[in-house]
Amino acid sequence: MNSPLIDPFQRAINYLRVSVTDRCDFRCVYCMSENMTFLPKKELLTLEELDRLCSTFVRLGVKKLRITGGEPLVRRDIMKFFRSMGRHLDTGALKELTVTTNGSQLERFATDLYAAGVRRINVSLDTLDEQKFADITRWGRLPQVLRGVDAALAAGLKVKINAVALKGFNEDELPTITKWCAERSMDLTWIEVMPMGDLGNEDRLGQYWSLKDVQARYSEQFTVTELAERTGGPARYVRLEETGQKIGFITPLSHNFCESCNRVRVTCTGEIYMCLGQEDMADLRAPLRASESDAPLEDAIRAAIALKPKGHDFDYSRQRLDGQMPRHMSHTGG
Ligand code: SAM
Ligand code: SF4
Repeated sequence: MNSPLIDPFQRAINYLRVSVTDRCDFRCVYCMSENMTFLPKKELLTLEELDRLCSTFVRLGVKKLRITGGEPLVRRDIMKFFRSMGRHLDTGALKELTVTTNGSQLERFATDLYAAGVRRINVSLDTLDEQKFADITRWGRLPQVLRGVDAALAAGLKVKINAVALKGFNEDELPTITKWCAERSMDLTWIEVMPMGDLGNEDRLGQYWSLKDVQARYSEQFTVTELAERTGGPARYVRLEETGQKIGFITPLSHNFCESCNRVRVTCTGEIYMCLGQEDMADLRAPLRASESDAPLEDAIRAAIALKPKGHDFDYSRQRLDGQMPRHMSHTGG
């Protein structure tokens, strides 16, 4: 009955990323505008609906579940949801439960996350300079995030830092951020900034910095070994021999990983996006709300997977010419 999710290109879908809220306590300039209008609460899937949704995916073969947002840890009672998902780790159905967070709430929640079965987390952090941090996040405060990272490490969580590479902003911090991560045994991944949503006016803080340049910078300062390892996603990895650290490079819209793509994304309103770089989506909220049985939901998931595109360069005529995605990262959770 529960045959696994295989898309038309024979890729097994075993990784689900779920955005649990569109809200956030930060307003990062590359992600949100200062005055965001958020969705009315009734549009959002309830925690119970999120549980049914994720559990159905797990039943259909999802092994890795990443919770994201918006800022997932500002959603009310979110620890209830993590604890509830932990049951799938206990049975072995789910192999990994993880979260991508801005770190602001980690001081409060790190031990609870660990207790729920989370072992690794991603924390997004672009600068270690207090003023620059306030500028880029608009509402964030660096010391709070640093305390959060410390709390996560103390709780036994393995932390990976994600930094958006921004020319003229954190370029000069590459050695400092790398060293800071190495001292805490944290891997570091650089993300190429994508032009998202309506953010045309933030040039001051958001210049595109090519990851080719970032990697070249590492080669000047370290002995860099390319790693063959891939995660089915848009990241490439190298190891710095001097520190033993793994450094990742995420080029979100590069397409040379599509053939191994193993993931789909669900938004906080229950839309499933089959590809980060395409507009193809389907609504899972209606089938979820239509019946107490999970059967209509399961049918809708299977129908959506059957439409997963080959890749995001599959048909360029369907992308906007400037490469701009009309939706915000906070909508699909990155
Ligand atoms: N609030 C959480 C956080 O910041 O980690 C989770 C959601 S956030 C949308 C997920 C990731 O998307 C973060 O690492 C963030 O830096 C990244 N991101 C947001 N807007 C981006 C953009 N325009 N280009 C590249 N990465 C972006
Ligand atoms: Fe919030 Fe994360 Fe977007 Fe920053 S990147 S505004 S922390 S959702």
